[in-house]
Amino acid sequence: CLISTTTSNMAPINGPTADRYDYICIGGGSGGVASSRRAASYGKRVALIEATPRLGGTCVNVGCVPKKIMWHAADLADRLRHASDGYHFVTTPDPKFVWATFKPQRDAYIRKLNQIYDNNLDREHVEHHQGSARLISADSVEVTRPDGQKYSLHADHITIAVGGRPTIPSEEKIPGASLGIDSDGFFALEDQPRRVAIVGAGYIAVELAGVLNSLGSETHLIIRHDKVLRSFDNTMQDTLTPWMEHTGIKIHKHSNVVRVEGEKGKTLTVSTDKGVIEVDCLIWAIGRHANTDGLGLEDVGVKVDKKGDVIVDEYQNSVVKNIYAIGDVQGKALLTPVAIAAGRRLSNRLFGPEKFKHDKISYENIPTVVFSHPPIGTVGLTEAEAVRLYGKDVKIYKSAFRSLYFSQIDEAHKEPTVYKLIVVGEEERIVGVHMIGQGSDEALQGFAVAVKMGARKQDLDDTIAIHPTSAEELVTMR
Ligand code: FAD
Ligand code: NDP
Repeated sequence: CLISTTTSNMAPINGPTADRYDYICIGGGSGGVASSRRAASYGKRVALIEATPRLGGTCVNVGCVPKKIMWHAADLADRLRHASDGYHFVTTPDPKFVWATFKPQRDAYIRKLNQIYDNNLDREHVEHHQGSARLISADSVEVTRPDGQKYSLHADHITIAVGGRPTIPSEEKIPGASLGIDSDGFFALEDQPRRVAIVGAGYIAVELAGVLNSLGSETHLIIRHDKVLRSFDNTMQDTLTPWMEHTGIKIHKHSNVVRVEGEKGKTLTVSTDKGVIEVDCLIWAIGRHANTDGLGLEDVGVKVDKKGDVIVDEYQNSVVKNIYAIGDVQGKALLTPVAIAAGRRLSNRLFGPEKFKHDKISYENIPTVVFSHPPIGTVGLTEAEAVRLYGKDVKIYKSAFRSLYFSQIDEAHKEPTVYKLIVVGEEERIVGVHMIGQGSDEALQGFAVAVKMGARKQDLDDTIAIHPTSAEELVTMR
């Protein structure tokens, strides 16, 4: 979605330029930007309201993009070790990652992306309003500018795309919890923590633990149960959890933080119900919640569920006519491409040609990758879900091996690769693909297309393998 790479210094607009807009998007993240640009491409008058000075939302500023850059740094650290230990490269003196100089470079790249987002809005005639938005009626939004001034915008259609933010336990629940940081705080760290504890067992906990461990921090992961990624297929959990431990991450299982003491930025003592850990930094990664505080939803009748996510139907319609919600704020599949696709298809449906009058996103078979070390790629049903749905009709194909890359690496550092296909019925329709191992992040996309098209195991068998690769195992399974 990034087209232009030139920069300009467009300032956001300071007030309404029309009595009435066709469309207002609240939130300038993945969903809001995509939806507003698509609407403008149909010649509609569009306003986008973003509370912060930076466009791009979570993904660009404190999510996918800086995370993946850190993952690459960590991956390089692993490969540099492989280079000297297995591939006979001379790497003396030892290569060293310098967080303090890398971080400003990473930040500068993000600022460039912010500017590109701004340029794209400008080029496509989407009005960018900077301020905090609040619904004041079913067709009006109040904008509070950074200087405190307020004005109102009116529109025929309004989309809520305000995303979410990290959850941190309250001080009442866990005294000292606020001494910890969250994933936003991780991206603000100016230097690498020598010792770090991460609480949580989902995407963010696993990804940040992997990055910090590979870059050399003493890394503790505090989880409530005995495995990470419990919503993923059991084979992924069973492969990744012991491998993370094998690589040096200290996983504190069946543990709950009960107290945190110390001083932020200095030594913290993290007490769990199992013991005490001393670290320099504590990161909460226990989930996220919708950014709906102060948005005026209750005033206009937009309903939220128990978790606070906006309730929408399959077309992204809220319960109030002409108000919609897309992306993280609607609580399903919190992923950037999902927010983008939902936003674009909503604008297609509202403003596009006749053929798009029923356009909507399908929330089935959404592929997703966890940027762990090694990465996980997964699409479709887990084994447990498939068995629940199809019982004895489910058949599993599985292959566990070490990729050729690791043939030159000593036994202790050979990363596992495990692929699993879940098929159903006599025709062996593929309902799940689960991959862990080097390259799974890149290999999954094509297999996700196959699953979406209703591929059968025979279709994979009929596809000639690409040799020598790891992904060829998926078309040669017996
Ligand atoms: P957001 O991108 O969060 O945008 C919402 C915007 O609304 C924000 O800019 C916010 O400032 C603004 N806003 C909020 N309230 C108001 C208001 N009242 N008025 C005006 N503006 C307001 N997804 C992936 O697909 N791949 C990944 O690798 C990945 N990695 C991630 C890593 C981390 C650490 C995190 C936290 C998330 C990651 N995600 C990833 C998830 C992805 O970032 C989100 O799913 C995506 O950003 C959601 O887009 P959105 O438009 O719904 O919300
Ligand atoms: P997740 O929902 O993925 O995971 C949070 C996990 O933390 C829970 O599954 C739970 O695991 C554990 N947990 C919940 N509450 C507590 C608690 N009170 N104490 C200890 N542990 C707790 O949330 P994340 O914050 O990791 O990520 C949010 C979302 O952002 C993800 O779901 C994903 O959609 C998106 N994301 C996507 C990425 C990608 O595409 N690569 C990367 C990062 C984020 P358990 O029940 O096992 O204890």
